[in-house]
Amino acid sequence: MRRGTVSIPYIKGISETLMRLYRSKGIQCQFKPINTIRRNLVAPKDKIKKLERSGTVYHIPCADCPATYVGESERPLSARLQEHKRPSYVSSPVVQHVAKQKHKIDWDNVKVLDQDSDWFSRGVREAIQIRRQRSTLNRDRGRHYLKPVYDCLLSRDNQHQVT
Ligand SMILES: [Zn+2]
Repeated sequence: MRRGTVSIPYIKGISETLMRLYRSKGIQCQFKPINTIRRNLVAPKDKIKKLERSGTVYHIPCADCPATYVGESERPLSARLQEHKRPSYVSSPVVQHVAKQKHKIDWDNVKVLDQDSDWFSRGVREAIQIRRQRSTLNRDRGRHYLKPVYDCLLSRDNQHQVT
């Protein structure tokens, strides 16, 4: 894949809009079938492999309440999770939740929701997942602002979970 090209899952109603968004940034956009992504992302059940993955959009659930957090990182997931486990990392909403509520985080059920090595498209994927998961610990809606029009597209398309 040459630079300036992204490959995104085809999700009816969302992908067309995303393609226009990418094009406006001068990025060519290809669609790939969802089952390819499912194979790439879901097949490795091995927990170690999950933690080694880079460029992920990840999901952290609280063990004691329905609160969840969605984040993204270009680094291996394990390195990013270590930061969210560090009490001194007070800018993390996860750390703040633990400190304020005295809750435990369900680290065994951290999920990788999506993966993209490209900084820009990973930000878009993160913003989509924050909306989809209705992540309550996210103070903002990710570093990529999705216009409110996406809300109805995403809720209409909830049954088409990518992973
Ligand atoms: Zn909680």
